[in-house]
Amino acid sequence: MARILIIEDNENNCYLLSFILEKAGHAVFSASDGLGGIAAAESRRPDLVLLDMQLPGMNGYEVAAELRRRPQMAAIPIVAVTSSAMAGDRERILSAGCDGYLEKPIDPDSFLETVLSYLPEHKRRAEGGKT
Ligand code: MN
Repeated sequence: MARILIIEDNENNCYLLSFILEKAGHAVFSASDGLGGIAAAESRRPDLVLLDMQLPGMNGYEVAAELRRRPQMAAIPIVAVTSSAMAGDRERILSAGCDGYLEKPIDPDSFLETVLSYLPEHKRRAEGGKT
């Protein structure tokens, strides 16, 4: 079981991602902007952060860079969620401190598997679940 922070300003998208992750037995919490996301990461120490790159105010690149500046969050996997139009920004996303990225629209069938691949093996299974 992993604790996953979703930083995403689009409510429908946030709902979809949370639904898929919770259904698989993971604990999800969310923030709708960068500052709220950084505060949530600080106080709740997630195992992984899903980060929308197109956020109002502070954008995803800035949020990723800010998280990486904090020693406690230097090693947390950050997976960017970005529109296909911006997927060409791969280098920029990775150099901001993200470990990888997912393209919107999210494919519900492959989303979970991709997210879990960024977690250590013992966090991938639902609590009490079998492999
Ligand atoms: Mn957005």
